[in-house]
Amino acid sequence: MADAAGPMIVAVGSIHGNEPAGSTALAFVMDECERDRLLVRGDLFALVGNLPALEAGSRFIDEDLNRRWSGQRIERVSRGELMESAEDAERKNLFDCLSVAFREARGPVVLLDLHTTSGDGRPFAVFADTLRSRNFARRFPVPLVLGLEEQLEGTLVDFIGLLGHVAVGFEGGQHLDPRSVDNLASVVWIALDALQMVEPRRRDAARARTTLAEHTRGIPEILEVTYRHAISPTDEFRMRPGYRSFEPVVRGQIIADDAKGKVAVPSDGFLLMPLYQKQGDDGFFVVRRVWAFWLALSAALRVLKAGRVAHWLPGVSRIEGEPHALQVDLQVARWYSLEVLHLLGFRKRSREGNRLVVERRAHDLP
Ligand SMILES: [Zn+2]
Repeated sequence: MADAAGPMIVAVGSIHGNEPAGSTALAFVMDECERDRLLVRGDLFALVGNLPALEAGSRFIDEDLNRRWSGQRIERVSRGELMESAEDAERKNLFDCLSVAFREARGPVVLLDLHTTSGDGRPFAVFADTLRSRNFARRFPVPLVLGLEEQLEGTLVDFIGLLGHVAVGFEGGQHLDPRSVDNLASVVWIALDALQMVEPRRRDAARARTTLAEHTRGIPEILEVTYRHAISPTDEFRMRPGYRSFEPVVRGQIIADDAKGKVAVPSDGFLLMPLYQKQGDDGFFVVRRVWAFWLALSAALRVLKAGRVAHWLPGVSRIEGEPHALQVDLQVARWYSLEVLHLLGFRKRSREGNRLVVERRAHDLP
């Protein structure tokens, strides 16, 4: 906490208990900030996510703490009305801490959620694609992965983003790779520098930028998720050894096995987060490159509020009583479907047969 008011960074580490790098990185940065009195304005608030799981060295005790962050459920958990798992107790603690932080903020709030992966991998950022979170995420020299929050229901980053704050999740690398700590600490240094919360110590921020740029060299700047390989324990899913995030894959390539046999990649692209641990619901993801032009176009369309006329598109219609949602008849709208609606700032809410429901993200504009 600095004397002068300014932005607040809320950084969460180890919301998955088998990811110690996040909380270790935060401890380093906090120590250094305190020792050298680096903070010149605003507040840096560090939180450790799943404490019992961190102690046990497992992703979670009963269920994933980085899921089920939805408005109504969290309200009931925070009032103590709903306690279904060890994680609900942690969810309540975390939400209470976040509420205190938001209340005490003396400027805009930015959430950083720090993660690592089971497979060998390099750093990248994910966020609920509001323009303000996107603009902030683009200040880090790491690839941006769009659309992951649509695949994962109720993540912390999505929840905080929908409250109107800037919220970005970062993957730092493999769980126990010492470079992951360095990468995640670099993320926090760059955030502090970007928000002008520390003296412009050019060497620190510059070193952090070099570290991340070196560890992400050769990866496209912007990518989007095209496929999620969802799994359950009965699938007995096993990745074949040696795969890593951002490795190019081609349609039909066999990369894993499960109870039914071989598992093939459904489309060309890059592999993301192949699962090399027992717990987890995502076997792997496939992402593809997005050209920066499309992001600029989508920003322009959203600033123009082009989404207001999205219901003029063939096959798209309004839903009575839901001003922010649209329904899409996929039989009619097949040729443009979700991609155009993404550009306009909508996200997928549900799909049943040929009926797709999308909604506009709250607090989209900067
Ligand atoms: Zn994680």
